[in-house]
Amino acid sequence: MDNNLTMDKLVNLCKSRGFVFQGSEIYGGFANTWDFGPVGVELKNNIKKAWWKKFVQEDPSAYGVDAAILMNPRVWEASGHVASFSDPQLDCKSCKYRFRADNLIEEKFKDVDVEKMTTEEMQKFIDEHKIKCPHCGNFNWTPIRQFKLMFETSRGTVEGEKDVVYLRPETCQGEYVNFLNVQRTMRAKVPFAIAQIGKSFRNEITPGNFLFRTVEFEQMELQMFCHPNESMEIYKSYKDRAMKFVEELGLSSENLRFHDHEKLAHYAKAACDIQYNFPIGWQELNGIHHRGNWDLSRHSEFSGKNMEYLDPYTNEKFLPNVIEYSIGADRLTLAVMSEAYEEEKLDNGETRVVMHFKPFLAPFKVAILPLQKNLSEKAKEVYAKLSKEFMCDYDEAGSIGKRYRRQDEIGTPFCVTIDFDTLEDDTVTVRDRDSMEQIRLKIEALTSYIAEKIKF
Ligand code: ATP
Repeated sequence: MDNNLTMDKLVNLCKSRGFVFQGSEIYGGFANTWDFGPVGVELKNNIKKAWWKKFVQEDPSAYGVDAAILMNPRVWEASGHVASFSDPQLDCKSCKYRFRADNLIEEKFKDVDVEKMTTEEMQKFIDEHKIKCPHCGNFNWTPIRQFKLMFETSRGTVEGEKDVVYLRPETCQGEYVNFLNVQRTMRAKVPFAIAQIGKSFRNEITPGNFLFRTVEFEQMELQMFCHPNESMEIYKSYKDRAMKFVEELGLSSENLRFHDHEKLAHYAKAACDIQYNFPIGWQELNGIHHRGNWDLSRHSEFSGKNMEYLDPYTNEKFLPNVIEYSIGADRLTLAVMSEAYEEEKLDNGETRVVMHFKPFLAPFKVAILPLQKNLSEKAKEVYAKLSKEFMCDYDEAGSIGKRYRRQDEIGTPFCVTIDFDTLEDDTVTVRDRDSMEQIRLKIEALTSYIAEKIKF
């Protein structure tokens, strides 16, 4: 990551180069919503594909699902969300700004472990230390209240007979409720995992920092169902796999660290986050949780369905434990973009911005650039051939230097330039994004050359 990188710089690059736009921009925006543009959607899709490949495709004990966002409201009673999915909120009576009490304390007192505090303890701490409003500087707070994080909507065709339904605040409940279905239809043997990628919604008190915390986001989650005796080993193995995965995506080890939780939910056996050093500092990137048998026992109780597993080898009947691994696709995209960004000083004194994405993550794998407009026919032939295999960009406007810079800024690993020699001998120039070195290749050799370089 470039030391000069600020969140503002990244937001501006994202906006000007088609990665991410402000949501509903022509209406003045809609706070903390973002739309992925033509370049950003490719990057995010590649990140999701990479996750699915590692954790579903390459793992014979993992199964994918795509569950409905709207679920029976009883699910959220069983999960405990209806009763207690809330954050401690307090408002400044002077400027009306709203904050999370735990964040307020954390930001001022880095050594205090707010995770261990009750609401009353947070209230006392803020009062005793006279923590002022970060916005207006006054000390004029409302008492702390619990702010509900689930979005509610209603369903029903007869006015007055509407039922409350919730937009799911996490995807994992779709995996728990399908435990029996997946186990039966896939003849799955414990330990096995159910994974999915999908949207979640949280009415966050303090969304912000670009894609880091939004009210609508995508999660990549899996639940590993296992025997209690092997659960701790599996928990540890997911810690390793999760770390290895983000390193393979290009995040450097000095910007990654584990944060083991000391305060655990009453049912949990262990929990940790992987934190990343974002341009805003160290923050959670993903979570790995050992949840005991809490989820299946609650769903058994609330649905009346027995969710025990009968081990076909030992004849033992038990309620599996769950190891959960959960990572936000948008938050990971933000981390990947932060890491890839570089303002590079060139030998000629100029500076170029370059996104050093791993080639398999790059939005476009190759850009086809005719040196002059009258070479466009041949260039389009090359585009037609390569675009059958890879996401390609095509650009014939402006000087070749400017076109290279534009591709650097969106992280395209290869630029293929068509010149007059191409018409003679069917060769093209291939420029490498990182080294800027150029080689000459036959058009027929391009597909295998690029395919080899973008493997994951
Ligand atoms: P945080 O402490 O940051 O609020 P959390 O502990 O509530 O996160 P989980 O419920 O464990 O998060 O969700 C798993 C992952 O989903 C997080 O590690 C993060 O990557 C992502 N995530 C959670 N909330 C948001 C959000 N509001 N915006 C974007 N991504 C999110």
